[in-house]
Amino acid sequence: MTTSSKISTFIPPVRTLMGPGPSDVHPRVLNAMARSTIGHLDPQFVALMDEMKILLQYAFKTKNELTIPVSAPGSAGMETAFVNLIEPGDTVVVCQNGVFGGRMKENVERCGATPIMVEDEWGMPVDPNKLEETLKAHPEATTVAFVHAETSTGAQSDAETLTRIAHEHGCLVIVDAVTSLGGTPIKLDEWGIDAIYSGTQKCLSCTPGLSPVSFSAAAVERIKGRKTKVQSWFLDLNLVMGYWGAGAKRAYHHTAPVNALYGLHESLVLLQEEGLENAWARHQKNHLALRAGFEAMGLSFIVPEAARLPQLNAVTIPDGVDEAAVRGRLLNDFNLEIGAGLGALAGKVWRIGLMGHASNAKNVMFCLGALDSVLTDMKAPIESGVAVAAAQGVYG
Ligand SMILES: *Cc1c(COP(=O)(O)O)cnc(C)c1O
Repeated sequence: MTTSSKISTFIPPVRTLMGPGPSDVHPRVLNAMARSTIGHLDPQFVALMDEMKILLQYAFKTKNELTIPVSAPGSAGMETAFVNLIEPGDTVVVCQNGVFGGRMKENVERCGATPIMVEDEWGMPVDPNKLEETLKAHPEATTVAFVHAETSTGAQSDAETLTRIAHEHGCLVIVDAVTSLGGTPIKLDEWGIDAIYSGTQKCLSCTPGLSPVSFSAAAVERIKGRKTKVQSWFLDLNLVMGYWGAGAKRAYHHTAPVNALYGLHESLVLLQEEGLENAWARHQKNHLALRAGFEAMGLSFIVPEAARLPQLNAVTIPDGVDEAAVRGRLLNDFNLEIGAGLGALAGKVWRIGLMGHASNAKNVMFCLGALDSVLTDMKAPIESGVAVAAAQGVYG
């Protein structure tokens, strides 16, 4: 038995994180987080907060005033959107094509509202025609919610079209962009999205624990005009704005996670240095190389090509292979983490992330080489020794 006196400093192994998140953190972000802690109302920290808003507006492509990081992980961003925009008795159309749409339903119910589900097969994008039909049948709906990048399957839905349809039926839109922000195009203002939330641990090359959110003028108007109090004190944006609000004399609401915000600031500076469009292109290029390698090996993608997320690759497992044993060997022998299937896809796919800083040629080659080596050693029915060369063909 370990006694407390035997416990000393925790030194984590150095892994390569190619699962569904968290993903590899950029060293500049980790360095930023190790800097001196200052007060969360220190004038210099307030200046960082003002910059943070501008950097997030850049990442989301929005001019929304209410664009801030929630002091908690992506799930709290989700909850922020729902508890602020939904009131008891509302009808909310929730599109579900994977795990995270199910969590949206759960949020709607906990707000005392009624979810109307639009269901699509796991691995498929949300079908805009089904949304249209559902909204015609439910004129009482006030809100439509969907996941832009379904991390449980690797499918991307057409956020622009879904938002347009929702608006044609007088609904506001809540979008989950936890896995999309920084990895694949989001054009908040151009598409007219009303409420969006993301996470720091997927394509932003940052540590887990913060959730960038943005709300349109229409969303803010709805929040200000609520008949009932927001059920969560911590996530009530009317209160949070006293600390984060434009030109607001910063008032204490909660103690901001100061060092975590240094990290997010640095990750957004990195994104700006690279350029948003270049970051999207990098994710796409590395995805194509990884795909070439997997396909040469004989693995196939479960999502139709047009809806594939470059940052989350869900691939089939070769017949007769113990998928958990493969992941175990990758972790133990190669310090490489890849993801298992989730929900309906548990045991059926691996989920390989190429998110943020982790989306690079070195990781693509490393993952293909390691997987090839483990599967070949296990005598799995794959084409051995060809994956890396196939990926090299894409890099040229
Ligand atoms: C990861 C993820 C979340 C939850 O984010 P956490 O940081 O784990 O709380 C929500 N939605 C999607 C689509 C995700 O991929």
